[in-house]
Amino acid sequence: MLIKKKQGLLQPYYLLEIISGLWITLRKMLFDKKVTIQFPEERRVYSDRYRGMHYIKAVNGVENCTACMLCPTVCPAECIHIEAGERSDKEKYPIKFEIDVLRCCFCGMCEEACPKDAIKLSSIYEMSQADRTVFDKGFLLDQRGNK
Ligand code: SF4
Ligand code: SF4
Repeated sequence: MLIKKKQGLLQPYYLLEIISGLWITLRKMLFDKKVTIQFPEERRVYSDRYRGMHYIKAVNGVENCTACMLCPTVCPAECIHIEAGERSDKEKYPIKFEIDVLRCCFCGMCEEACPKDAIKLSSIYEMSQADRTVFDKGFLLDQRGNK
């Protein structure tokens, strides 16, 4: 059975609300400053204090890191894994230097603790990957100079 309901007093005026909503959208589109950008063609400039992808600084191709183990010690997420070794040009250096980015909370404590200014956080924010991401030493060195 079809039940017919009586129209409420204000129901015939719903069109006014729709028009008012459309006007707000149109006004925002035409006159307001846009808050979105055409990524990846356009990119935002982040503050110098932004903490993004890590990198290891190197001078003349030699990493600044002396494998002192301070950064894995202070890291609250326990995501830095270093294996230390020795070689002729350097008393101690990291044979292995890995950061498990999925665990990292980008607190910047590794950067703060480093006495050699070796580990840095850049302003690169594009780090999404389909798989679990671990930055190894080669990758971290390749990022050097990135700010
Ligand atoms: S930024 Fe923080 S959580 Fe990430 S590796 Fe450094 S100390 Fe660990
Ligand atoms: S990056 Fe810095 S704090 Fe970490 S092991 Fe190397 S020298 Fe030590």
